[in-house]
This record gives sequence, structure tokens and C-alpha cells, in this order.
Amino acid sequence: MLQSLGESPPYPILVVEDNHFLRHVLCNMLQEDGHTVTAVADGVAALEHLRQQPCPIVITDWVMPGMDGLELCRAIRSQELECYTYILLLTAQESKADLITGLEAGADEYLIKPINEAELRARLKIAQRILNLERSLKQSLEELKHLSVKDPLTELYNRRYLAERLPQEIKRASRYGRNLSLIMLDIDHFKAVNDTYGHGAGDAVLKICAGVLQEAIRQDVDWAARYGGEEFLLILPETDHAGALVVAERLREYFAATPLQIGELGISITASFGVSTYPHDRRGPLGAEVLLEAADRALYQAKKTGRNMVCSLPL
Ligand SMILES: [Mg+2]
Repeated sequence: MLQSLGESPPYPILVVEDNHFLRHVLCNMLQEDGHTVTAVADGVAALEHLRQQPCPIVITDWVMPGMDGLELCRAIRSQELECYTYILLLTAQESKADLITGLEAGADEYLIKPINEAELRARLKIAQRILNLERSLKQSLEELKHLSVKDPLTELYNRRYLAERLPQEIKRASRYGRNLSLIMLDIDHFKAVNDTYGHGAGDAVLKICAGVLQEAIRQDVDWAARYGGEEFLLILPETDHAGALVVAERLREYFAATPLQIGELGISITASFGVSTYPHDRRGPLGAEVLLEAADRALYQAKKTGRNMVCSLPL
């Protein structure tokens, strides 16, 4: 990612300049270099434009009627913008004190008029590098966030995410008087799969099962987590006990009837299910561990009673 920094297309630029001629010259030059350019004549119009459409690079004149370049710098820096705005300040002031004032107002760089085209281009290259860096950092952060809550093998949520999110789901159900159901399932005799076909096949089985679970639940409402080695959890907001039993039974039937295809191999498995529900008419919240334990006990009962079945126990 970092290697490709110089290869990104030119960023859009907002030009803020009250001098009509200079504005025109700047726009032409930047457009020739491949930038998409918007031009306005003062700070107020610039802020209004940024509010509607953020722009990663702003080239602004210092002296303008109404809101000047310094005020514009300060206004941009005081806003919580999604992306960084690189500000290049154009100025006729050459004194060190003035330039420092400009930088302290929030400008990233300044350029002394009359504008030297080569220097402007060089400054814009710096802007491009900084913005690219910000973009790649954001991307890495997103990836890290994703990794920290997902199980790497199955791509389902991990226990860490579960520990954070399940209490929130329960709180929500409690506050709004909604149902919330859990389905805990465990692949029967999974050790035998590993022993017979090897761990690679075992991992493939877990992946396929995870895919089946993802397909079976409502996108953006329900979610699935890997709870243990071969143990999964489905969290079904707005689903009552009867509804959760139907989902569990459908999945049980599917697994029992459909051999999992791994290359040439068709591996038959079954799974056991435990269902628990936070009922909509229950008063007061409930610890996540209570709901989990109820599902776990039901699952244990399903295992004990012969596997390949769905059980549920009252809370
Ligand atoms: Mg001016």
C-alpha cells in the first residue's frame, strides 16, 4: 500500500481567491495537471462549499473581503471533518512573523506571490503524499478493527465482540420490550472429523458451517459468532422463542441432510442446538451470562439426549 503512494490520481482542489484573473490562471493550471477544481471568491463561500462537499486540498488567498484566508484556516481547523484538509496559503507577505501567523492559523504551507508554477506543483506533491498517508493509515485502522472483532478462520465475530455486543442487545431488548433469542450449536463428534480427514478438512468444515449460518440469518439484524472450537452462537434480536426454535430446527435438518463438500470429499455431519430467549415481557435487564448459560444448558441436554437435536430450557 505504502509503495503505491505516488500513483494515486490527483486530489480535487478548492481554490479561494478574490482576484478574478489569478483565480482563472490557477484553475487552468490545476485542471491541466488533472485536478478537479472548484473556485470561489472568499472564505464564506469556501466554508459553505466544504460543508456540502469536503475537499482534501484548499488553496486560499490571504487577503480577501469578508472572511480572509487566516479566518478560513481557523474555521476549517475548528471543524470535525471526516478527512484531513491540506491548506496552502497564498500570500504577498514575506515577513517571517506574518508567515508564522499563517501557519499558526492552520495552514500547512504557504506560497509567496507571484506564484511560481513549479513551486506550486512541488507543494501539491507534498499535499498528495500527506493525504495518501492519511488514506493508507485509515485503511490499516479499518483492517485492524475488522481483525480485532472477527475470528480469522470463519470470519464470524469472535468472543471479544460477543462480550461487548451481547449486553448491548439485551439492554436494548429490555428497554424497548423486545424479544431476543440465542441459538448455541455445536458440531457433533467433530473430533472424529479431524481424526478421520485431518485438521485441514476440519477447518474447512468449520468454514462451511459458518457460511451456512451466515446465509441462514437475516443480514444486518442477526449476527453469528464463533463461541468455541466447533461451537457457534446465533444472536437473533426481535425473535421470540418459537421463532428461534424454527430457525434452529431448519439448520439442524439442513446439516443432517446435506454432506459438506470439501474438494472431492462429501463429509456428513450433524449438530446439536440449544435455544434461549430473553422474552419481551420480562421486566428488567439480565446478565448476558444468564442467557448464554441457559443456551449452553439446553445444548448440553441436546448432546446428552442423543445429539442431532434442538433443545431449549426456561431461563
Ligand atoms: Mg486577495
